[in-house]
Amino acid sequence: MDNNHVTILEIDAKALAFNLQFFKDKLKATTKVLVVIKAFGYGSDAVKIASFLSDKVAYFAVAYTDEGISLREAGIQTPILVLHPQIQNFELLIQHHLEPNIYSFDTLNAFADILVKQDKRDYPIHIKINSGLNRLGFKATHIPALITALKKHDRLFISSLFSHIAASEDLNERVFTLEQIAVFNSISTQIMEGLNIHPDKHMLNTSGIVNYSKEAQFDMVRFGIGLFGFANDKEVTSQLQNALTLTSIISQIQVIEKGESIGYNRGLIADKTMRTATIPIGHADGIGRTLGNGGTYVTINHQKAPIVGNVCMDMIMVDVTHIDCIEGATVIIFDSQEKVEQMAKMSHTITYEMLTAISQRIKRRLLF
Ligand SMILES: *Cc1c(COP(=O)(O)O)cnc(C)c1O
Repeated sequence: MDNNHVTILEIDAKALAFNLQFFKDKLKATTKVLVVIKAFGYGSDAVKIASFLSDKVAYFAVAYTDEGISLREAGIQTPILVLHPQIQNFELLIQHHLEPNIYSFDTLNAFADILVKQDKRDYPIHIKINSGLNRLGFKATHIPALITALKKHDRLFISSLFSHIAASEDLNERVFTLEQIAVFNSISTQIMEGLNIHPDKHMLNTSGIVNYSKEAQFDMVRFGIGLFGFANDKEVTSQLQNALTLTSIISQIQVIEKGESIGYNRGLIADKTMRTATIPIGHADGIGRTLGNGGTYVTINHQKAPIVGNVCMDMIMVDVTHIDCIEGATVIIFDSQEKVEQMAKMSHTITYEMLTAISQRIKRRLLF
């Protein structure tokens, strides 16, 4: 049964495929593509996206082990890098053939110990180099000790060495970024020569591909937000296709007389007779309170209906005084990158947070 009377996030498979190809076209034919689908696929649906892309990419990455397990349980066979695995989940990680980011001596030793205990050999791991983001990873000063430790732990297969750029979208930080690339190059050379190995190297996210594919393409790239049509750059974003559309319906229309108020704390007092529509989406779904009181609008019957009054947990009210509409009519919350960007800006945040805030109670549908 197809229940249309819900708030729903539609994922456009054609747009995903288009955007994937757009980034592939910027790369050498031999460069592997890893698609990052952490946080439910940037707030969309990681399982649906992975199922659709599994034969089109070399790798997936998630942040946490349980996100990788969800993909395995859905039958995804593609290699999966877990970017931020936790030691207490290592056994589960191995059980589901997930590949850990090893970013510290503690994670290295704990993982190697489990491989010994389970008598596993050649288990693929990925070593994170801290080239300047200062989040996770080994720094230059750790490298001699790391090489010694890796020689000792001979059950590991070092599948890749990778690092993450701090400001790949900010060309004012170009000098800093080039320095990060140089640090990564120097550290990986040290490790590869020290151990006589040839792992893949990777560094670029979406904006990295846009701005540094010449300097830091290496053997693989890791991108996430670009898949959904966002490139942190107006010009490039305009060449991508929007993949996400959030729609709802009008639950009820209210006629508000002059002097009556709307919503919690009487956020708006009508200075004339108004018509409002109540929509089943609220701050618990990712529509933050800063978007209330005209902070953003929805589109009904091709016209803009601003939010009136405060955003409630499960609902918003919008002004439809001048819009021809009825209860049950379709409401578009966003259907373009520009609209998501407007909402992010009004929420004092970035598109990444706007998308990942979309609550799990909203239904997802992948459209082909
Ligand atoms: C999230 C993440 C990415 C993807 O970044 P985008 O800007 O979404 O392309 C790549 N690498 C790491 C380590 C990440 O955490």
